Amino acid sequence: MNYIVFDLEWNQSNDLKHSLSAIPFEVIEIGAVKYDGRFEQTGQFHELIRPQVYQEMHHVTGRLIHMKMKELMGGGRFQDVMARFLDWCGEDRIFCTWGMMDLTELQRNMKYFGMEPLSRGPIPFLDVQKLYGIAYEDVKNCRSLEYVIDALEIPKDIPFHRAFSDAYYTGKVLQRIQTPKLLENFSYDVYHPPASRDQELKLVSDTYARYISREFPDKKEAFRDPEVSSCKCFLCHRNLKKQIPWFAPNGRQYYCAAYCDSHGYLKGEIRVRHSDEGGTFIDKTVKLITPEELEEVARQEERTRESRKRHRSRRQRGKALKGQGL
Ligand SMILES: [Zn+2]
Repeated sequence: MNYIVFDLEWNQSNDLKHSLSAIPFEVIEIGAVKYDGRFEQTGQFHELIRPQVYQEMHHVTGRLIHMKMKELMGGGRFQDVMARFLDWCGEDRIFCTWGMMDLTELQRNMKYFGMEPLSRGPIPFLDVQKLYGIAYEDVKNCRSLEYVIDALEIPKDIPFHRAFSDAYYTGKVLQRIQTPKLLENFSYDVYHPPASRDQELKLVSDTYARYISREFPDKKEAFRDPEVSSCKCFLCHRNLKKQIPWFAPNGRQYYCAAYCDSHGYLKGEIRVRHSDEGGTFIDKTVKLITPEELEEVARQEERTRESRKRHRSRRQRGKALKGQGL
């Protein structure tokens, strides 16, 4: 198994009016290092990409990575560079990145340029930023790569903020912190959501469970599915009766709470997500909570109900006034 640690630089439009929703970020550089199963470095990859969409450098990108459009014009087409990159990666690989975004944007660029998808469903990968949080801080906070390099006293022998150097340093961090147990903490890129029921993701850790559904035509249809709407205890697999049914304080997130006789209170959270193909899929987590956290969920549910009621009565009053010709 090869660990492919990669980093991208991308460019975007200087004004939102000219930004294409199919490709808000155009990849302009790919940098990567390859490690074998023993975490020995076995290869390096670095190529610039000639822009085909945004021909002007975004003011922040240009400043951050000190790159001029002229330099990029000497690069290859995305399609060709990407083909060479995949060839260099080989088949037996696991992608590793700093943060969650790179694999998604890479696939969005592949789709825009008409390339075959990397996968028909979710892709497991290692988010080294998350792994560092688990290994050193036991929290999900997002440290910058530079902060972590300093904290681990890794020598800064090449400049930051270019695709290759960021991949190089991310690789150094991974090499330093990896243990077989830590490497079990896969993240999943869901740019391509599960294509069928058997591809759905059901992940369980000591403290929470996560479920990523296949695509549904819409949100209503999704909630009709018992796997979506249920709240199960992930420790004993019992289907629980909800103490607080699903409610939505905003349009995209839903919460519920339930009680398991053996394991205590649990909170469910659903995020309704949309794929680039226009489908709707569900990202649900269920985790153990304290009685105090349960009270907070109850208060939030009450606030949501109150604001709905106020909204409804205002609407009805409006209608009644209209009916009276006022
Ligand atoms: Zn239980």
